[in-house]
Amino acid sequence: MDSEQRKHALALIQQALPDLDWTLQAAKVKRLSRDFHWFSPVLKQQLEDKQADAVVRPRDEEELMLLVKACVQHQLPLILRGGATGNYGQLVPLEGGILVDMTGLSQICELGDGVVRAQAGIRLAEIEAFTRPAGWELRCMPSTYRLASLGGLYGGGFGGIGSINYGPLGAPGNVLSVKVMTMEAEPRILHVPAPQALLLHHAYGSNGIILEVELALAPLHRWIERLDVFDDFTDALDYANAFARSPGLVKRQLALFAAPIPSYFSHLNGHYQANQHAVISVIAQESEGFCASLLEKYRGHSAVRQTADEAREANASLMEYCWNHTTLHALKIDSSLTYLQTAFNYTNYRQQIINMAALFGDEVISHIEFLRDNDGNITASGLQLVRYSTEERLNEIMVTFRDNDVKINNPHVYQIEDGKQGEIKPEVVSVKKCLDPNGLLNPGKLRGWEVRDTLTLDNNPLLLTDR
Ligand SMILES: Cc1cc2nc3c(=O)[nH]c(=O)nc-3n(C[C@H](O)[C@H](O)[C@H](O)COP(=O)(O)OP(=O)(O)OC[C@H]3O[C@@H](n4cnc5c(N)ncnc54)[C@H](O)[C@@H]3O)c2cc1C
Repeated sequence: MDSEQRKHALALIQQALPDLDWTLQAAKVKRLSRDFHWFSPVLKQQLEDKQADAVVRPRDEEELMLLVKACVQHQLPLILRGGATGNYGQLVPLEGGILVDMTGLSQICELGDGVVRAQAGIRLAEIEAFTRPAGWELRCMPSTYRLASLGGLYGGGFGGIGSINYGPLGAPGNVLSVKVMTMEAEPRILHVPAPQALLLHHAYGSNGIILEVELALAPLHRWIERLDVFDDFTDALDYANAFARSPGLVKRQLALFAAPIPSYFSHLNGHYQANQHAVISVIAQESEGFCASLLEKYRGHSAVRQTADEAREANASLMEYCWNHTTLHALKIDSSLTYLQTAFNYTNYRQQIINMAALFGDEVISHIEFLRDNDGNITASGLQLVRYSTEERLNEIMVTFRDNDVKINNPHVYQIEDGKQGEIKPEVVSVKKCLDPNGLLNPGKLRGWEVRDTLTLDNNPLLLTDR
């Protein structure tokens, strides 16, 4: 559909649904069509001129359903927007259409014993504010938890804080079920239990509209946030690794930053020297007593310490220096930097981290996050900072990582299969065929859809029983 045809379709939809909350002003629509893909100089250039034709913020499911029906009738693309903190242009419309701001659907539906069900547009921090008094917190959440939505985490996220215990969001047991609206002339509402529900996870909202997510929760702890510093990188790595591999030390977050990364943390860097390496940990109050002897063993020093309650009150959590917040803080100081996403091998990640740091020197700076993988192994992933020169050099660096048995989850691509998913998955395409048969949801993002005729697709990938 060209832009004139889209304009025409949009005018008809607007005429039919004048009471929806519309945003039509081009500059505002452009701003709302952005996420954090600009962390990548490659994506920044590729997505520069892409935007929606209009934005709608439904007040409830009924309004969303009216919009879905109208878009299907006029064959106009529909793209979902949560907090817009995604990194790979996940919500940037490639072929125009209507961007749907889901933040109006933000109710907690149910809180049980260790389980919460909430609407997709709710912010993750709001879920925790609700569950904390009952003694529960999220099992894993991105460092953007204050802005990011539940639907956005499901549609585009991976995990983060808490993944040291529970692995990524997609690890078995973390997500219990989802409620989905189909993109059809007569939209259906489906309740999909895990594991089938995970076929809609990290699919950028291209194969279904998530209305609600049911999550398993973690027991609440009294957390202490610490930043400890080291003169030697290997000492810092070994401190973090000892911490990670001590099951009795209860923790929520553990990350290692090679110098000069800590110097980019402008609100903290008065507490240490610019050439020091740092470890940020979030540790349970009852486990903190063990830090002193571990620090002594690895020649480290405490630089910042605060309780999680103090951090929340001051809006100054150390968790917001971890995961891709590290990149954000660094880019504020040096806009020529970019980043990688790497997954080390759980059997020898310590040596791989040392080898890769030595191989690239100052060109690729180690930022390492400790976590469990889907199988429960303690391992490490990297969000290394890269001193960017050219796209060719960036690709060369990624090839070298792969050649050294370090997996790359390329953050410089916008199609799902080129990033973390890694390959075309017929079962994910099958879900799109069943739930979005006209291919209107976030078109252009699921490469498998373009070659669907060559794939063996399943007619009932979600194992729905009402058929
Ligand atoms: C500074 C920074 C730090 C980050 N740290 C982390 C981290 O620690 N861990 C991590 O996993 N990610 C991280 N991210 C990426 C991002 O913040 C998370 O993935 C977050 O969960 C996205 O939520 P959102 O509401 O902002 O999603 P959005 O950006 O709004 O959307 C993300 C994707 O989900 C789709 N979507 C949104 N709502 C729905 C819905 N209801 N149904 C179906 N699809 C939907 C969108 O179309 C889009 O494709 C970080 C990003 C930044 C900029």
